[in-house]
Amino acid sequence: MEPEISIVIPVYNEEESLQQLFRELLPVMEDLKRSYEIIFINDGSCDKSFSMLYDIREKFPQKIRVIDFNGNFGQHMAIMAAFFHVRGKFIITLDADLQNPPAEIPKVIAKMDEGYDVVGTYRQNRRDPLYRKVASKIVNKITNRITGLKISDYGCMLRGYDRRIVDIIANSNESTTFIPALGQKYAVRPVEIPVAHREREFGESKYNIFSLIRLNFDLMTSFSLSPLQWVTMSGMGISALSFLLVAYMIIRRFIIGSEADGLFTLMAIQFFLTGISIMSLGIIGEYIGRIYKQIQKRPRFVIKKIWEEEDAEK
Ligand code: UDP
Ligand code: MG
Repeated sequence: MEPEISIVIPVYNEEESLQQLFRELLPVMEDLKRSYEIIFINDGSCDKSFSMLYDIREKFPQKIRVIDFNGNFGQHMAIMAAFFHVRGKFIITLDADLQNPPAEIPKVIAKMDEGYDVVGTYRQNRRDPLYRKVASKIVNKITNRITGLKISDYGCMLRGYDRRIVDIIANSNESTTFIPALGQKYAVRPVEIPVAHREREFGESKYNIFSLIRLNFDLMTSFSLSPLQWVTMSGMGISALSFLLVAYMIIRRFIIGSEADGLFTLMAIQFFLTGISIMSLGIIGEYIGRIYKQIQKRPRFVIKKIWEEEDAEK
């Protein structure tokens, strides 16, 4: 029988968090008194995460399913894979690290019961390093600007999606992606609610500064062409300005004669423009990279095995 609720949790080297996660999550789900399943995706962990997921599945074979990835494909691909296999009517995503406490799940479900098809969340009193909070503030603003979406907190992953939306996301065939943005894009009746946030108690963040930048580039380039339009616009702007400068120089030469001073000013301007050119090449490169990935047609993720009830009976 199809369960009513599917919880989707990506797991990458979370051996320190998992025990506590099971302890908090299972009672919350039981208390709801509604049918549910929990899908864990092991995203190529190299610690004991998989064997812990395996054990808990053995204990609750009816409720828990484990998708074991054939390597590390990233948090969003892990969720994407689970979206192909969910059976529930409402789908809730959650991180394994307990930064969003499972006790907040009923709040999200209550909103879904009200008929919202995407329940977004933002972190109240976010407990993360300061540099990440500041960076997120800026990134949230820029990303909303660029993509035209309205999401207050892109990084908060405790979210609810109606099955219809999940099916659309699963069929959205992009080589890299950002699940909350896709959800928002296809939502017909979205809502946002605040949820509690805790410090990461066990283990550490799986994102370093470079993977965060990567992730944000994926987000921006997959939802908008406006960075490319900026490149074009700034090129046009700079050409117009330099045309004026050249005209001025020619006139000056006739009136005052040639000039030799101001060498370092010239260098500074030159460096600045070189920087813009390199950055523009990079932005164009981002899009070309995406096209390249898309035509390579490599699988976005590879599943080693799905551990679920049917195969236990075989
Ligand atoms: N995660 C994953 N694959 C990755 C990186 C992270 O499945 O390559 C999972 C991780 O186990 C956690 C969630 O994604 O459940 C969020 O990761 P993390 O807490 O490290 O991110 P942060 O909260 O620092 O943004
Ligand atoms: Mg976290």
